[in-house]
Amino acid sequence: MISIEKSLKTYPNYPTRAFLLELEDVLGKNGLNALLRIAGLQEWIDTYPAENFEREVDLSEFSSLNAGLDEIYGSKGSHALARRASKSAFDLTWKQQGALGNQQIEDFDSLPTQARNKEGLTIFAEVLSAASDLECEVQEKNNIILFRVQNCPVCWGRESSSPTCQGFVGLIEGCLQWLGSGEGFEVTEKECSAAGGDACTFSITEESVG
Ligand SMILES: [Zn+2]
Repeated sequence: MISIEKSLKTYPNYPTRAFLLELEDVLGKNGLNALLRIAGLQEWIDTYPAENFEREVDLSEFSSLNAGLDEIYGSKGSHALARRASKSAFDLTWKQQGALGNQQIEDFDSLPTQARNKEGLTIFAEVLSAASDLECEVQEKNNIILFRVQNCPVCWGRESSSPTCQGFVGLIEGCLQWLGSGEGFEVTEKECSAAGGDACTFSITEESVG
């Protein structure tokens, strides 16, 4: 069983719940229960985190879930599942439940794509940081947008030989989709705390054509 020491840092209930619901959809209830047992999260088997933004999930619980996915499905299968589930979690929570609701997407419509992506991701980084103990920041270097995360919920307390936070890549992809940039952009984890990096850092680049 996976055992990651409590971080005493928090992530909100709702996006965790949405991540679990999507996994349940793909894995079935039995598959999800097996995952929760391996992750040491038996208490969630019948009771998912609540449908609210209370900060009741420890980062170690969310990262145990992702570590459990790796253990059961291997990193490749696990990464695909985590990416899909977190993209769905963006849609169900950050987009639909009003967390980003005060920001009308129309505000961005007149901006060129790169500026729109940067503005939108910056707002998401601020909302996510305010709603949790994550410290997110968006930078732009040489025309490449970088999304940096300290206290990453996917890899907290974990070690990996290579970047492992596809469970965060999906959130950024969900945000890009919300911004109308769902196609044509690639999100890549360049640096990962679990692989010795200072932070988990994701680059957002235009997909090369051809
Ligand atoms: Zn990470």
